[in-house]
Amino acid sequence: MLNGKVALVTGAARGIGRAVVLELIRAGAKVVINYRSSFAQVEGLLAEIKEAGGEAIAICGDISREEDAKNLVSTTVKEFGRLDILVNNAGITKDNLLIRISEEDFDKVISTNLKGTFFCIKHTAAVMLKQRSGKIINLSSIVGVTGNIGQANYAASKAGVIGLTKSAARELAGRGINVNAVAPGFIETDMTDSLPDKVKEASIANIPLKRFGSAQEVASVVCFLASEAANYITGQVIQVDGGMVM
Ligand code: NAD
Repeated sequence: MLNGKVALVTGAARGIGRAVVLELIRAGAKVVINYRSSFAQVEGLLAEIKEAGGEAIAICGDISREEDAKNLVSTTVKEFGRLDILVNNAGITKDNLLIRISEEDFDKVISTNLKGTFFCIKHTAAVMLKQRSGKIINLSSIVGVTGNIGQANYAASKAGVIGLTKSAARELAGRGINVNAVAPGFIETDMTDSLPDKVKEASIANIPLKRFGSAQEVASVVCFLASEAANYITGQVIQVDGGMVM
């Protein structure tokens, strides 16, 4: 399905990013795995891919720094000759009630989730515009649509990702580049692991499918949007939330 395609996935050492990498590899793509700090985080993933006969490299970089985002894109093109799929997955939370969020924690969340996504799109778009093709998939969140108590910084960043997605979709559509967002609800990863049991139970009560989703269930949707099967979809926000928000 994605044979001959080259993909870059940010923040892909674990969780949803890791699942996206493995799904793209299964579909036949060559994958560049971005991780933030220690190589040990991705060593096992690279070995798993190699054993399965897939092709991947890992590049260290903090996407909230424009130089790093630029380097991710240029190294991808240097190593594989092109860049067909960008998955902006890296993200952080710094949850607190609105009146307790420090300026530093507001800025950190916006810098990674929104500005980092912007930097990666900006430098990738320059390559895709020349190729006259490409797929960009941004990880937003259902709270970017609904808002959430204790997540004003995170919800603002993820709502920003939706505006960024739609603007980029309009600007790039003329050159065969599709830009979409995926908005997961509650997904079982390290990010949701730390939620108190009470919060988890209350959340599940509001999910029609009565469970959290898996990283794999998000990865399948990302992989679909990265494929030619999704050629006529752009500027959309696809919710993967068990029916939580309808
Ligand atoms: P996670 O915390 O398990 O993984 C996030 C990854 O991003 C980590 O590997 C981290 O090192 C990396 N990262 C953070 N800042 C970075 C930076 N500046 N540069 C490069 N890498 C960086 O989270 P996850 O649950 O797998 O979430 C993945 C994405 O999906 C995030 O954007 C998150 O906001 C979004 N999301 C998750 C859920 C959920 O329920 N888990 C729900 C909605 C949206």
